[in-house]
Amino acid sequence: MPGPEKMSLNTATVKQQWDLKQCIEGAARHGIGAVSPWRDKLHEYGAEEARRMLDANGVAVSGLCRGGWYTGEGYLSEAVIDDNKRAVDEAATIGAACLVMVVGGLSPDSKDLVRARSLVSEGLAKTLDYARNAGVRIAIEPLHPMYAADRACFNTLGQALDLCDQLGEGIGVALDVYHCWWDPELESQIRRAGKDRLYAFHVCDWLNPTKDLLEDRGMMGDGVIDIPRLRGLVEAEGFDGFNEVEIFSAKDWWVRDPDEVLSILVERGRSAT
Ligand code: ZN
Repeated sequence: MPGPEKMSLNTATVKQQWDLKQCIEGAARHGIGAVSPWRDKLHEYGAEEARRMLDANGVAVSGLCRGGWYTGEGYLSEAVIDDNKRAVDEAATIGAACLVMVVGGLSPDSKDLVRARSLVSEGLAKTLDYARNAGVRIAIEPLHPMYAADRACFNTLGQALDLCDQLGEGIGVALDVYHCWWDPELESQIRRAGKDRLYAFHVCDWLNPTKDLLEDRGMMGDGVIDIPRLRGLVEAEGFDGFNEVEIFSAKDWWVRDPDEVLSILVERGRSAT
């Protein structure tokens, strides 16, 4: 039941209405403590200018979305490695609590999930070396298995934590309730992650029925996820970071007045998270 100061506006939530500057100023206007920019929004102003705007408005950064996509070319290309280094640099410049990784799904024309996962593991190891030197934490975001083919071949918290175990210090998880709520092992895996590896907590809701696999996420309280229970589980481990609101909603929240979206977001933060 956090107040707005413990909430974060992921820029995806108002991506059709606002640019980065409007997101930062909007968050400040509604008393929202943080934002989490996507890199395309960040690039509208550049990381240096973004840092200046964040500081001027007293807004923190709960994460930078997103690095990863290690599998897109079927091998680990220099271009992919370099882009992830740039993402690390940007995260450092804006003081992001973590760089969120959407790791990539199957490579083009491939059915080889095992190879995809090994590319991810190798790519993350390389990014992590660079990120440790930059003082940036890497957060793997496991995505719902419906995205295994096209977005992320790591789909449960347990799977992501296995990878963290393998890679060592400086890497943890971004737990998004939309992706993980159904997992029968969620509670035990949150305990396994512990405070040290829980880097971010993303909220929205699972609408029943869901009309689009990508762009029909609900506002907290409008769906079937017991968000207060999940927040309770991460807080029981000592997690005290932001409730980051990330809603993809082409036909509803993206076509509303963004100030109305933020007002409702703050109200639901209190009543439904
Ligand atoms: Zn998320």
